[in-house]
Amino acid sequence: MHIGRGGMSAILDVRDLRVTFRVGSITQRRDILGVAGVSFEVNPGETFALVGESGSGKTTLARAVNGLQEISSGSVTFEGNRIDTLDTRSMKPVRRRMSMMFQDPVGSLSPRMKVGDLVTEPFRIHGVADVNLREETRRLLSLVGLPADFAERYPHQLSGGQARRVGVARAVALNPAMIIADEPTAGLDVSVQGEVLNLLNDLRERMGLAMVIITHNLHVVHHVADRMAVMYLGRFVETGDTEEIFQAPAHPYTAALLSANPEPDPDKAHDRIMLPAEVPSLLARPPGCEFHTRCPWAQSKCSTEPPAIVERDERRIACHFPLDPGARPPEQKGAA
Ligand code: SF4
Repeated sequence: MHIGRGGMSAILDVRDLRVTFRVGSITQRRDILGVAGVSFEVNPGETFALVGESGSGKTTLARAVNGLQEISSGSVTFEGNRIDTLDTRSMKPVRRRMSMMFQDPVGSLSPRMKVGDLVTEPFRIHGVADVNLREETRRLLSLVGLPADFAERYPHQLSGGQARRVGVARAVALNPAMIIADEPTAGLDVSVQGEVLNLLNDLRERMGLAMVIITHNLHVVHHVADRMAVMYLGRFVETGDTEEIFQAPAHPYTAALLSANPEPDPDKAHDRIMLPAEVPSLLARPPGCEFHTRCPWAQSKCSTEPPAIVERDERRIACHFPLDPGARPPEQKGAA
């Protein structure tokens, strides 16, 4: 079992996980790597964020961790037990302890079920019979800040924020140890995003939950995550403490993402790092450092040699030339 930060036993330990997709016709099959060997651990009570542009592999990785996506190699250990080797039936009890919150708050809820039935559906799915469902409905609605009479509403009668709260209630219904939340604030107004994030943070503290948050929204990451991993073409390019990464990103891709999403602080000057728009196709991964086709700091070595992982304290950076704090981008040519 991997020992995480502070000597704590990790609740989730992912080692060298790979996901391969088969594409093409019967005569021209090709395997492409969607997740290209990532390792991380999450400690009890900790929030870990997976960040990246769409297509970076973060949702595929989360689904693989939860057993919803087949993996081609590597391991997933949850609460001390390997779970990547389990079949669907054996995964069922694991999903009580590791629940998943999907994107699209309204679309992921059955339109014909009332909210009261939706929040208690996990009890029925997992065959938990020794509970009073009426009381559980009241308890769960109260836990997520919804009035008790919402039990009689249907999903189409909910706002985006209310639907997300119902999603949260379903995720915590069976008292899990960990939640994986895929874009928990997608499609919500900024003020409602803050409410949902505060709710998740509050529940994490009250229930001692670990969380994995998948998002492309860096403000969400800064708000809730203790540690983060930045993904590019299915690999981690930088992992570490969220605050330290926000203060001084060491991988050029992280620096570019942060510069495109500056904190709303008018006293801070921001140099926007412009990247050429095209993310390379997974079918044609660039040689060497896969980010070299977009990297303003790229040097000749970058196009031929894949970078090894550089460790700086608890930071891990996949770059030949990690940035020093305050590094400014070189003169940019041809950026979009
Ligand atoms: Fe940029 Fe080179 Fe570092 Fe890749 S290895 S991120 S191309 S500086």
